[in-house]
Amino acid sequence: MQESGYVPLKIADPALLFTQLGRQPLPGMTIHEMADLMADLGEPRFRARQLFQWVYQKGVKDFDAMTNLPARLRQELARTTLLRLLEKDTEQHDKRTGTTKYLFRLADGSQVESVLMRQSWGNSVCITTQVGCRMGCTFCASTVGGLVRNLTAGEIVDQIVMMQRELPEGERVSTVVLMGSGEPLENYDHVVKAIRLMHDPEGLNIGYRHITISTSGIVPGMRRLAEEGLPITLALSLHAPNNELRRQLMPVARIWPIEEVLAAAREYAERTGRRVTYEYILIDGVNDGPAEARELAGLLKGTLAHVNLIPLNPVAERPQYRRPRPERINRFKQILESSGIATTVRREMGGEIDAACGQLRNRAQRRHMGR
Ligand code: SAH
Repeated sequence: MQESGYVPLKIADPALLFTQLGRQPLPGMTIHEMADLMADLGEPRFRARQLFQWVYQKGVKDFDAMTNLPARLRQELARTTLLRLLEKDTEQHDKRTGTTKYLFRLADGSQVESVLMRQSWGNSVCITTQVGCRMGCTFCASTVGGLVRNLTAGEIVDQIVMMQRELPEGERVSTVVLMGSGEPLENYDHVVKAIRLMHDPEGLNIGYRHITISTSGIVPGMRRLAEEGLPITLALSLHAPNNELRRQLMPVARIWPIEEVLAAAREYAERTGRRVTYEYILIDGVNDGPAEARELAGLLKGTLAHVNLIPLNPVAERPQYRRPRPERINRFKQILESSGIATTVRREMGGEIDAACGQLRNRAQRRHMGR
């Protein structure tokens, strides 16, 4: 780090960063918080709604674009607040699939990655919740440098706003998955605030049913989310059908055994009436055999479940793990289906563009460090 001169600022509470900058960030504010801001500035409350729309729905980059606000208010806001929290650093586009991966830079120099997938049925985005990650999953690139910090609600939502800006006029983001870098349930309050903000009809207007939160299995967080009353989809990263194998792949499995994680997922399904997605990475010769498929089928039989098989995205830092051949993937799927379990294989969206979580950021950092 030292030799490159690039030392990202590490802070415990991300909100502190903005205090240090002396400006209040607008992304992350609810309409009520904006109403308080307007009251402080001696402005009528209805201005809050106008500002909210500029920040989240129109996603402008410049206060001067806020044409329905008086010039003196725009100047005051420009002096005391921050309109955007992210700056586009690099992007990689995969022509074949129409997927673009963005690397964004935050105010403290940290970088996060987000993905925009343009499909016939709509535009979906995959967003990040932490800078780095401390879960330590052995197959994952996001965790290589450990956790740097949590993102604020504003930094989480701003990823969607920034990508919506990239779409042609009139198109919008309709689906969000919180499956980028980080463990969303370790950043619970900011993540839930961000979800409520992205749902707001005056803003991005994304339906709760089109939002998925993916967790490595933080049991207390799963329970709390079930009580939150948000009809979002929960995806559980299972990746193994028993404790021994799961502990090898995911250190978090040493804290909560598979029985407890599955019980929490079932509770979530019962409490919300929403089918839980079980994610299962297929790693050649590690967890992808017929025996594991049968064991997994036994675990999930009779539950409100959907299994999403994810053929491993090879990661430069993890050369020991490889993706299985298509025959093995199909065999695994077939065993689950013959037990009556709804199963899909994740379509490859960004194989050519470092799309496995954290890879683009890692590459950018290697570049910085001259490696
Ligand atoms: N921490 C959360 C969300 C971020 S990871 C979680 O664990 O669910 C999102 C998904 O991508 C998880 O299912 C994760 O296991 C998976 N993933 C991580 N590395 C991968 C890789 N190299 N190939 C394919 N999927 C990967």
